Amino acid sequence: MPPKSFGTYSKMIWGRHLLKAAIKIKPLRVSRHGKRHYSLPPDNVKPLRTVVHPDVSKIRNIGIMAHIDAGKTTTTERMLYYSGYTRMLGDVDDGDTVTDFMVQERERGITIQSAAVTFDWKKHRINLIDTPGHVDFTLEVERSLRVLDGAVAVFDASAGVEAQTLTVWRQAEKHQVPCICFLNKMDKPTANFGFAVESIKEKLKATPLILQIPVGSGKNFKGLIDLVNNQKMVWTATSKEDDGRTYETTALSQSECSEHLEAQEARAALIEQVADLDDDFAELLLTDFGDNFDSVPSSKLEDALRRVTLAQKGVPVVCGSSLRNKGVQPLLDAITAYLPAPNERHSDLVRWYKEDLCALAFKVLHDKQRGPLVFLRIYSGTLKPQTAVHNINRNNTERMSRLLVPFADQHIEIPSLTAGNIALTVGLKQTVTGDTIVSSKASAAAAARRARSEGRMGTNPGDQGSVILSGVEVPEPVFFCSIEPPTMAKQADLENALACLQREDPSLKVRVDADSGQTILCGMGELHIEIIHDRIRREYGIETHLGPLQVAYRETILQRVSVTETLDRTLGERRHVVTVTLAVSPTEDISTGSSLGISFEEEVAQLSSELREAVENGVQSAYLQGPLLGYPVQGVCTLIQSVNIESGSSLAMVSACVSRCMLKALSQAGGQVLEPMMSLEVTVGEEHLSAILSDLAQRRGTIRDIQNRQSDKLLLATVPLAELMGYSTVLRTLSSGNATFTLQLDTYESMNPQDQSVLLKRLAGLV
Ligand code: GDP
Ligand code: MG
Repeated sequence: MPPKSFGTYSKMIWGRHLLKAAIKIKPLRVSRHGKRHYSLPPDNVKPLRTVVHPDVSKIRNIGIMAHIDAGKTTTTERMLYYSGYTRMLGDVDDGDTVTDFMVQERERGITIQSAAVTFDWKKHRINLIDTPGHVDFTLEVERSLRVLDGAVAVFDASAGVEAQTLTVWRQAEKHQVPCICFLNKMDKPTANFGFAVESIKEKLKATPLILQIPVGSGKNFKGLIDLVNNQKMVWTATSKEDDGRTYETTALSQSECSEHLEAQEARAALIEQVADLDDDFAELLLTDFGDNFDSVPSSKLEDALRRVTLAQKGVPVVCGSSLRNKGVQPLLDAITAYLPAPNERHSDLVRWYKEDLCALAFKVLHDKQRGPLVFLRIYSGTLKPQTAVHNINRNNTERMSRLLVPFADQHIEIPSLTAGNIALTVGLKQTVTGDTIVSSKASAAAAARRARSEGRMGTNPGDQGSVILSGVEVPEPVFFCSIEPPTMAKQADLENALACLQREDPSLKVRVDADSGQTILCGMGELHIEIIHDRIRREYGIETHLGPLQVAYRETILQRVSVTETLDRTLGERRHVVTVTLAVSPTEDISTGSSLGISFEEEVAQLSSELREAVENGVQSAYLQGPLLGYPVQGVCTLIQSVNIESGSSLAMVSACVSRCMLKALSQAGGQVLEPMMSLEVTVGEEHLSAILSDLAQRRGTIRDIQNRQSDKLLLATVPLAELMGYSTVLRTLSSGNATFTLQLDTYESMNPQDQSVLLKRLAGLV
């Protein structure tokens, strides 16, 4: 059932605010939201005064990252509220937050798909990307980190660094994204500021710069002492309805003595620490202040802290309680003070493209009315609607019809956008996540010339390596299952829905099984496929049936075989006769999909390029489906020994003959099933370790290492994927909910003969 449109209503509400600003509002996409969306009143949201911020040094493109449940979404909601972007506080527990706008996210209370939100804070423009925390969606996190300039890591102050924080932290380091730590949930009786700071030091191997100390603890957590500015900030109101918008600020010298002393010491420690990390500040201290740290001006300390953070020599640590509305405004101040503006991030591209456009597509969403919406991060130049842009990765030119600024699920149309900003474009139909967009082919070539003159690219003029923004690596899907529409009449709708979902999410692959004609979904994990299924139902109104979840095996061969095949067929008036001889042999490396080859015997190498292509097509199509179970083949090399074609035979018949010959050869060469082996990491307390180890032994797992992580153990193992179905539930039971795990495809390995025969019997339905 299509969701009802809210076009007129929202135009009315929004129109009131926007008439003056003379910008147009187009209510966007009703498809994505179910009815529950309306629990967020449209007039809750207030538009920005200026749509495009004129000063790039005041823009912050940041992300919030954390372990699930640390409070990312709650903190984001508070930021939107205090910035004036929303008029009402959203609450994850009530399911009415702005950023978790997919219905599944609201129902599950977790963030799945990162959404971009733009708001202003004290003359700064903040573009905030909310990132998901679940392991099946690390691609989403990686994708957003690629385009961020800075990040806020949110921690549960009673838990310190948790498993997923560690993973995301490493990703942020890889992309050299400076961070701030926010110790949230200071209101919990078990919250422990000191412990959380220690865990940042120990587990993240980071250098925490303590900028605040909490005032009160547990239920009595009232506020904080801001060491940089020497002041105490207290949120006095106690009623639950209090929104925390107002708080009391007192200069420290006027407040109680004991606090003053403690703060003085903490500030001195901070100043010394910063002096150790920043030479300019050390010099200033020596020449102007000597030992008199009290008189070091806040602005000098702040400048030095900013330099240290940008150089990633230290991470500012602040604290608060988002749920209780305390400490979020100082967090926003810290974001603007210490995280970098886009122009402070170094990029060769800016130099090579000069004033020309260069942007990275980092997300694609699908809108029923407008088609694909592409999120772009602009690195250099200016983006304008109604212009043609060149996509380097696809080598094509497309026309962009409109340009929007994204606000969670609302969007505002704008006439142009410059470097440093995040834009949403309409009209780019071919662009996929990870593509680099420039103004023209000529501009890409000019950038390539500049890069080459600096010795940063190969000498081949066709080489575009360095002038393409490195995109996001898409992992290979390891699970699949069939998906069926309720009736054949819905097949076309389903195909369309899947095409849209695939452009949004490159880790989802769809194919059609040649034998059964069934549509097959391939994904990263069980939750991933479940969410896709759910979205097809909600957003596209199609009730589909999923077959059982299966592991994506591969096939290879055991020995070299040479085979001849003749095809003799008369179609209409025409007789096609083709004879092919070829040999298949196993290659040394069987572990990846790229270990496939085709070569030609010398006399065959003389074939015309069309014929050669027809032969290659035949080989490639045989590689897609092995003879044993129909899984893709890898670790095989094919030598084409002879090809005889009687005149009048078509190219399609040549391909068909080669394919048949390949099938015969591969089946005679002895089939071997390859299974995906996963690299599994489990973090667990010592008391549950033995239960988990003995369970893994039964799952054909190999333990690679057991390391210490504070009081916990980190277990590294290699386990066949087939043995890991439903593992999250098993692990929860074994550890009473205290273990976390991450899973990644490691390699493909040959199955041993017993396991293989059990599998073959099972798949043939014999067991
Ligand atoms: P996310 O998974 O990181 O997005 O976390 P959420 O914002 O969805 O919050 C997870 C849970 O923690 C929810 O039940 C929140 O109400 C709760 N929560 C968030 N912030 C705080 C806080 O400051 N104090 C306490 N006690 N609970 C909080
Ligand atoms: Mg969330």
